[in-house]
Amino acid sequence: MNKQVDIDTKKATYLRQYELVDLVREYDPSVDENLLNKAYVYATKAHGAQMRHSGDPYYAHPIQVAGILAGLHMDVQSICTGLLHDVLEDTEATFEDVSGLFGEEIAQLVDGVTKLGQVELSVPNPSRQRRQAENFQKFVLAMSRDVRVLIVKLCDRLHNMRTLQYHPKQESRERISRETLDIYAPLARRIGVDRICSELEDLSFQHLNPSAYESINKRLDGWRADQKAAISQMSVALRDLMDEAGIEARMYGREKRAYAIWRKLQRQGIGFEDVADIYAFRILVDKPETCYRVLGLLHTEYRCVPARFRDFISVPKPNGYQSLHTTILGPENRRLEIQIRTERMEDVAERGVAAHWAYKNESYAYDPEKAQESGGDPLRRIRPLVEMMEQSGDADEFLEHAKLEMFTDQVFTFTPKGDLISLPRGATPIDFAYAVHTDVGDTCIGAVINNREKPLRTRLQNGDVIKIIRGGDPEPQAGWENMVATGKARSALRRLTRDREAQEFQRIGAMLADHAFAREDKDFSESSIGDTLKRLGFKEPVELYEALGKGELSIKKFMQAVFPGRESTKAIQEYANREFITDSTAKLYVKGDGLTSGVSMHLSDCCSPIPGDRIVGVQTPGKGVVIHTIDCDVLAESEEMGDWLDIGWRRAAQHATSTARITATVEHVPGALADVTKIIGEAGGNLIKINTLQRSPTFFDMIFDLEVTDNRHLMQIIAALRASAYVVAAQRLTGDYAAAE
Ligand code: MN
Repeated sequence: MNKQVDIDTKKATYLRQYELVDLVREYDPSVDENLLNKAYVYATKAHGAQMRHSGDPYYAHPIQVAGILAGLHMDVQSICTGLLHDVLEDTEATFEDVSGLFGEEIAQLVDGVTKLGQVELSVPNPSRQRRQAENFQKFVLAMSRDVRVLIVKLCDRLHNMRTLQYHPKQESRERISRETLDIYAPLARRIGVDRICSELEDLSFQHLNPSAYESINKRLDGWRADQKAAISQMSVALRDLMDEAGIEARMYGREKRAYAIWRKLQRQGIGFEDVADIYAFRILVDKPETCYRVLGLLHTEYRCVPARFRDFISVPKPNGYQSLHTTILGPENRRLEIQIRTERMEDVAERGVAAHWAYKNESYAYDPEKAQESGGDPLRRIRPLVEMMEQSGDADEFLEHAKLEMFTDQVFTFTPKGDLISLPRGATPIDFAYAVHTDVGDTCIGAVINNREKPLRTRLQNGDVIKIIRGGDPEPQAGWENMVATGKARSALRRLTRDREAQEFQRIGAMLADHAFAREDKDFSESSIGDTLKRLGFKEPVELYEALGKGELSIKKFMQAVFPGRESTKAIQEYANREFITDSTAKLYVKGDGLTSGVSMHLSDCCSPIPGDRIVGVQTPGKGVVIHTIDCDVLAESEEMGDWLDIGWRRAAQHATSTARITATVEHVPGALADVTKIIGEAGGNLIKINTLQRSPTFFDMIFDLEVTDNRHLMQIIAALRASAYVVAAQRLTGDYAAAE
C-alpha cells in the first residue's frame, strides 16, 4: 500500500518535533525547518499546561493536526497554521505576535481558521441569529479567500473527531458529530479530500448511531470471512491478466466504510447483501490511455454488468474526481467492482485540492499548472457558496435565503453541472427544482437522483446529484404541498394551484353561460356578452366565468343582465320554475286523498322534496298544503302545525325534472372540481348552480343545485360522487338552506 494513504497518526499520542519535520521533509526537501521548529515550540509553550479531555497536554492537538496536514502534503505555511491554529483563541497570543514571528501569510491563515472556529452553527436562541448570519458570512469569506484555511479547519475537526470519545458530555458529542456530518464532511467532499470526508463521516456515524455502526461492522466482519478466499483468488487472476498484457499496474483492494454502506442501504432501500461495491479493486496505471486498455482487457476476459459501467475520466465528477468504474462477473457469478485510474487521479481522489500543492522550481507551493491538469481552480468548488451569500445582500437577507438555522440541518445537493444547491433537511426534488428556477419547479414531473429515477417524495441526501425531468405545461399535483420543505416551493405550488383552480371555475362558468344561452335558443359567444360584462362590472370574460363558476354570480342575474328589460323571458321563467317545483307545478305532480282542487300547495324549502321521495302534506292555516319529505327535521318538530295528509307523486312527475341540492366535501386540489362536474354530467344530472365555501386549506364544501328526474337518479349521482377519490363526503342537502349557503 502507498505510504501517502497512511495519514493515521492516532496511534502515537503526538508527533515528536523531529518526526513532524521528517514527515514534511520527505515530500518537501527544501522546507524551512527553522520555521517549523519555531512553530512547534511556540505552540507547546503557548498552550503550556492546558489539558485535553483525553488527558493529553493540549498542544498534542495542534501537533496532530499538523501531522494530518503533512499527510496531505500541504505546504509549510499550512503545517505552521495547523500548529498555531488555536493560539489566538485559547492563549494570550495576539495576531501581531503571530504575524511578527511567522509572517503575515501565516498570521492571516491562523486568523481565518480561528474565525471559522467561532462560527456558531447551532442556534439555541433565535435572537442571536443575526450574529450567526454574520458569522457564517465570515466563515464563507474566510474559506473563499484561501482554501488552505478550510483544509486546516477540516484537519482540526478530524483530530477532534478522532478524540471525541473523551468528551464528557454525550449531548456535546452528538451535536459535534451532527455538525461534522452535515457541514464539515460535505465541505471536505466538495473540495475533493475524500480521505478526510469518509473518516469524518464514519466517526460521526459512530457517535450518532452507535448501534447501526456496530451492526454494520459486524456484518462486514462476516462478509469479509466469506469473501476472503474469492478476493485473493480474484486478485491473483487480475495480476496475471496485467502481467500477460505487459501492463505495469499497482493494485489494491478497498473496502467501503460503515457509514458509506449505511447511506447506501438507506438511500437505495436495499439489503446488505445487495450492496454491490462493498469491496473494490483499484488498478492504478501510468496514463489515461492505459486505463482504457485495462478496461478492454477486463471486458474481454469477464462479462461486465453494463448498467454499472461509469467513465469519470471523460466526464469527471464536480469535485474533480476521475476514474473508470466497472463491475465484472467473476467466478461463481460474483460481482466485483473495479476502479481503474492513473496514479495522478488517485492522488486527486484522495487528497482533492490538497493534491495541487507540489514541488516546483525549488519551492513547494500551490501549483496552478498541476491544478489545471485536473479540473483547475480549487476555489471553483466553494465559489457557489460565496455566490449564494453575495446574491442575498445583507446578513439578514442572507439568513432569510440560506436559512442559516437550517445550515446545521441542511443538505448540499448538486445540479448535473456541479452547481451547489443547499436545501433544508427533508427537502425533496421538488424543492430542488424550485431552487433552480421557478419555471423548472412549475414543470417538474420527475427526478433522476444519482442516475436513478426516484419518486419525487424522496428526501434528498448530502452529495446527491439531481436531474429534474420536466413536462410541458405547469401541472400542480395533489399533495405536493405536503412534500416540500422550502417556503419558496410551497408558495409557488400554492400559486400554481390557485391559477389552476381559477381556470376550472372559469371553464365551469363558461359552460353555465353557454347553457343559459341555449335555453334562450341563442348561440353563446364571448362577443355577445360585451355589454353584460360592463353592466355587471367585470373587465374580462374570464372574470365573469369565474364568478359564475364559483356561484358568486347567479345564472338568473347573469341572464337578466344579458337580456335587460326582458324580466320574464321564457328561460328566466323556466329557470325560476326549476329552482323548485312551485305551487302551480306541485298541483300537477302531487296527488292525495285530502287534497281538493283549488287548495294552495307548495313544496317546502326545508327538505325540497323531489319525485320518488316519500312525502306528506301538512295543511297549514294561511299557507295551504305544504309538502315535506317524511324524514324532514322541520316536519318532526312541527306537529302542531296542522293535519298531515297522506300524499304521493303523480305519474306525470316522472317525466318532469326537479331541482335537488347536494352538499359535498371535496379535496382542495387541482383536478377535483373538474372531476366532480364530470361525474355529475356523466350521470345525467344537469348542473344549475354551484356554491363553493372554503372550509379549510385542504377541503371545499360545495353545494350543487342540479336537475334530476327523481330521487333514485339523485342517489345514483351521490353514489358516483362518493366513489370519486376527491370527494370526502356527499349527501343530499335538506333542512335549512339559508344556513347552508
Ligand atoms: Mn483545534
